[in-house]
Amino acid sequence: MRATVMYGAGDVRVEDVPDAALREPTDAVVRVLRSCICGSDLWPYGSMPASEHGQRMGHEFLGVVADTGAEVPGLRAGDLVVAPFVWADNTCDFCREGLQTSCRHGGLWGHDLDGGQGEAVRVPQAQGTLVKLPSGIGADSPLLPSLLTLSDVFCTGHHAAVTAGVGPRTTVTVIGDGAVGLCAVLAARRLGAERIALMGRHKERTDLGREFGAAEVIAERGAEGIERIRELTGGDGTHAVLECVGTREAIETALGAVRDGGVVSRVGAPQYSEVPMDFGTLMRNITLTGGVAPARAYIEELLPDVLGGTIEPGLVFDRTVGLEEVPDGYRAMASREALKVLIRP
Ligand SMILES: [Zn+2]
Repeated sequence: MRATVMYGAGDVRVEDVPDAALREPTDAVVRVLRSCICGSDLWPYGSMPASEHGQRMGHEFLGVVADTGAEVPGLRAGDLVVAPFVWADNTCDFCREGLQTSCRHGGLWGHDLDGGQGEAVRVPQAQGTLVKLPSGIGADSPLLPSLLTLSDVFCTGHHAAVTAGVGPRTTVTVIGDGAVGLCAVLAARRLGAERIALMGRHKERTDLGREFGAAEVIAERGAEGIERIRELTGGDGTHAVLECVGTREAIETALGAVRDGGVVSRVGAPQYSEVPMDFGTLMRNITLTGGVAPARAYIEELLPDVLGGTIEPGLVFDRTVGLEEVPDGYRAMASREALKVLIRP
């Protein structure tokens, strides 16, 4: 079968790999219908040291079950399923606490496993990992892009809003107009946020942010951006700040834009190792939270809104490519020509 392999910075190839096949009784094989390129894939695309063996890519996919092992009683060939970006048994103590990303028997796609950016995937712990979608959704359904966002990007935006305690009396700043930031806006609106400001400077993206629920768009960064948020909030800052960029500058902006007693949540793949939470932030009672989104814990909750059309997170996809065009999809996302690239193998 064909699949995407990254060999180093800027070097993504689609090539022949061994067919996905059952290995354990708890496995399933899923034929991929839709996949995508993640903003987090762009970090290795920008900096991965050259490697002889390469790294299988893709951790967001939905598809049709092709085969199941003997210990996957809930699924059968032909079922349409979505996979969260971390696989898990969904039964251990961490999973029962809704922290499937810390599953005792789980792991990441692509590391010695198939990735989502290919024709098919061997899914370990298939019974716990895969979420079956209602029958009757066809292979060309316009719902597929939004259903695919449940794999990662919309759940990640939702996690930012949930961990920040966003609710009806919350004012929110979202930093970043990438796909995660836009999904965080949509998630904050879905949770009833009183007012949402989006910090970003790419007009097509911030326009979608307005459509998703942002009342204000702030193009300024750093101290000027903080000043704008403070002006909008009587000098105080917002109750919640969702940091969806992952740079040191973004977390500094977040700490400046948050109201005393407020919460900063960071999601995605932060590229800094230190957060400047000094005595001043202690005196302001700022909470820092966020983390990797346990998408598996959220999919069932978010699914009805996607199926019912109340929300359409799939609007973050602004380009569709076939599997052989995936390298160009990486290039387009890295150069910001595309916001998020959908793959149709
Ligand atoms: Zn588990």
